[in-house]
Amino acid sequence: MVNYLIEETLDPEDWEATRLMAHQMVDDAIEHLAHVRERPVWTPMPDEVRARLQTAMPHDPAPLADVYQDYRENVAAYAMGNIHPRFWGWYMGSSNFTGALGDFLAAVEGSNLGGGNTGASQVEQQVVDWLKEIAGFPQNASGTLTSGGSVANLVAHTVIRNLAAGFDVRKDGIASLEKPLRFYASDQVHSCHQKALEILGLGAHALVEIPSDDRQRMRLDVLEETIANDRSQGRQPACVIGTAGTTNTGAIDDLTALADVCEREGLWFHVDGCIGGVLRLSQEHAQLVDGLERAGSVAIDPHKWLHAPFEAGAVLIKDPEAHFATFEMHGPYLQMQERGMIAGKFLADYGLELSRGFRALKIWMAFKEKGAVKFGRLITKDIALARYMSDRVKAHPQLELIAPVDLNIVCFRHIAEDEEASKALNTEIMLRLQERGLAIPSDTTVQGRHGLRCAFNNHRTQREDIDGFLEDVERLAIEISSEGSV
Ligand SMILES: *Cc1c(COP(=O)(O)O)cnc(C)c1O
Repeated sequence: MVNYLIEETLDPEDWEATRLMAHQMVDDAIEHLAHVRERPVWTPMPDEVRARLQTAMPHDPAPLADVYQDYRENVAAYAMGNIHPRFWGWYMGSSNFTGALGDFLAAVEGSNLGGGNTGASQVEQQVVDWLKEIAGFPQNASGTLTSGGSVANLVAHTVIRNLAAGFDVRKDGIASLEKPLRFYASDQVHSCHQKALEILGLGAHALVEIPSDDRQRMRLDVLEETIANDRSQGRQPACVIGTAGTTNTGAIDDLTALADVCEREGLWFHVDGCIGGVLRLSQEHAQLVDGLERAGSVAIDPHKWLHAPFEAGAVLIKDPEAHFATFEMHGPYLQMQERGMIAGKFLADYGLELSRGFRALKIWMAFKEKGAVKFGRLITKDIALARYMSDRVKAHPQLELIAPVDLNIVCFRHIAEDEEASKALNTEIMLRLQERGLAIPSDTTVQGRHGLRCAFNNHRTQREDIDGFLEDVERLAIEISSEGSV
């Protein structure tokens, strides 16, 4: 007899030893988080470490303890550092431990959230319902969790395109469009919208960027003119994209005015709320996004200002039938049933992905444990920190703001003789801050002026971090100037 059957699994041979190892990992993780503030924000990776991470595929086994050690020494030691209280670059998230435990439990459970009559699928729908409440959307809106804001916006734009086309785009394709579709957004719009319209076959020209005013909000007069002009040129205006918190400076478009324009013109109103879609959780600042509740759809990013570990995005849509009609698809191997495992709402019918992770658990657990009110307070705190820093910059003779601070993003710079010297100096300050692990700001250009950029969506940041950061900036400016190299 041929012995073709080797009866083995991926389960540990020794559960007890694995238990000890797993406990060790949890202990180390807690130690790591409890002392995160004392470590450098980020450490550049030496070449020899990079080389160690480029080995041949491991054909043979190794003890879990060795693998873990390898991870600690060569991978974790060179993490991005966005969980550190002085990380404010770009627009990250700073995670939270309950969410991390949620991700672990979700992975152990291993459920596929494509669909299925499971507790997990119920929890995802529960989290989507909470997000509707936060955004001021009705409970009969549809929604889904996505990997992030880019896919959330893509899902919305797909539904909007199909509705605007007025024929079956899924069957006939975009070649049957009689007129080119147009989506309007301010020139501060996130780049994912252009990517989405490109993927949808509408072309980059389908995104019309409307100039913004001196507070980086979409200019309504230009919007109305452009819509009229497009109509007269035989193009079809389809959608206005309002941004609730731009990535560059945190500007919030006049959402109420945009909702009015859309109503008058018969256009879909979509809001990119990847930053500000959760602002209504903050009692003090909820009114900043008045008008959000009038949007037809909104993209929200729980991995940003709700501090969920990556990844978690979400999209909500007020036309559940159109949402379903855009993505519903079942092969012969996946037919729905009234009863049994495959009964109930099939979550993959509302987005691009069939196999989906249990992203909702990390949000659900943290919300239940901490309470939504606390998440609101953390948003309020981040906005207060941005104002604190803005005041300190204004009061400092060597520093200046390069954009108004309307939300939680501060764009500023150290003053130099001219624009060119300023860019060189501030870039060098930024790189030394990063390389020495002191803080991670990023940089940007606002209306032709380059400067450093701090986005406060980090629940660990305190005032002392900003004080220390501004001292570091000042010290580095003196150091660099004394070298005379820049
Ligand atoms: C971050 C961001 C996005 C993209 O979201 P991802 O989660 O990074 O895919 C889109 N729009 C805005 C305004 C953002 O800040």
